Amino acid sequence: MAAAIDLITPTRTNGTSTAVPVPPLFSPTRIKAFTQCPERYLRRYHVGPRRREPFSRPLVRGNALHTVMATRARRHRDGTAPVSLDADVARALPRSLYPPDEADGYDDDATTVQQQAAWGMTEFDRRYGGATVLLIEENLPYQHRPGNGTAFGVETRLDLLVLHEGGTIESADWKTGSFEIDTVQNLITRAVVGRNAMRLVTGRRFAGNDAIATSAIYVGEQQTWSHVYTREEMGEEWRTLTGTIERIIAGTESPVVGTPPWLPARSWLCGTCPFQDVCSANTVTVEDLAMTAWLLAGD
Ligand code: SF4
Repeated sequence: MAAAIDLITPTRTNGTSTAVPVPPLFSPTRIKAFTQCPERYLRRYHVGPRRREPFSRPLVRGNALHTVMATRARRHRDGTAPVSLDADVARALPRSLYPPDEADGYDDDATTVQQQAAWGMTEFDRRYGGATVLLIEENLPYQHRPGNGTAFGVETRLDLLVLHEGGTIESADWKTGSFEIDTVQNLITRAVVGRNAMRLVTGRRFAGNDAIATSAIYVGEQQTWSHVYTREEMGEEWRTLTGTIERIIAGTESPVVGTPPWLPARSWLCGTCPFQDVCSANTVTVEDLAMTAWLLAGD
């Protein structure tokens, strides 16, 4: 039997006493969590009790790198006095974050963050040194209202958004992992930038597809990916993304662990999962699922 359900239907008031339901809101992290393992997603976001994600050195390094890059980008934007990279890294990655059994890894991680930030700032200067910085680490939303389809919202945090002299807007996402194009993140980023572009650059129209570039800067591998999505590409990719979101929304009507679409998906990520001890993959076998499918086939 499923544990206590913790489903929240967000509402807002419309100035009267009537509560207006707000469509569910999805971040790239949330969507990727579902595609990696639906059961972990369900347990993490909907079925209590919540559990802390375990300490993760890659995650801590990634957070520190983002903090350092944002701090230095703000100084660049504001024209304030430079501070040594050592000092920024020490502030962003305090030794106290590390539990005793991981403390030996601290020095290596600090060095990695420093090297990645040094290359990241070189790339920042090369690509964005002459551009106007519009946003640093800010959330932007987009509400998808297809009329006859499923309504939902998406939101993502932009690491950096700049306006180039030629009029192009470009978003940049700092990536600390290996080079892998993050389609979900890129699509949502392009959508929220397009939705908010006219507000961010007052008086400019961004009707042309070639006026918005989406970039990811892989500081670990020292590579930059940049793409200008056409309307056709966005339309096609968005349909795929919408299909995933619709499966999540439909699934939350029946949030039962171990049933579709919430089946467990075993992968190397299981090693970092806080729900290993209760995972249905340990109790529900493919033979069980095959028997269920056989029994239900006549329905
Ligand atoms: S242990 Fe693995 S399969 Fe089970 S919920 Fe966690 S990530 Fe999914």
